[in-house]
Amino acid sequence: MLVIGDVKCLHCGFVRGRWVGPKGAALTASGLKDEAGQAVAAPDEPVRCVRCDGPVFLDDASLVTSSYRLRRIRRLREQIAALDAERDRAA
Ligand SMILES: [Zn+2]
Repeated sequence: MLVIGDVKCLHCGFVRGRWVGPKGAALTASGLKDEAGQAVAAPDEPVRCVRCDGPVFLDDASLVTSSYRLRRIRRLREQIAALDAERDRAA
């Protein structure tokens, strides 16, 4: 089950960005997205506040709605099926 929320500093309240990951998992950088939606570096690093280096927590967390993921999975399966069909024709 995936959750999404704001990574917020316990000390100064600075919002580092959005975090997406498994419910209950540690807030590592791999789940962190900056404002532009890009993943930041050092995937296993625990996230710290960039302003005061304080600990962070997941604020306003909610479950990720699965419709986007389901559409993506369906599209990938269609692409794989098309590739398989093409390979069968070539063989
Ligand atoms: Zn801070």
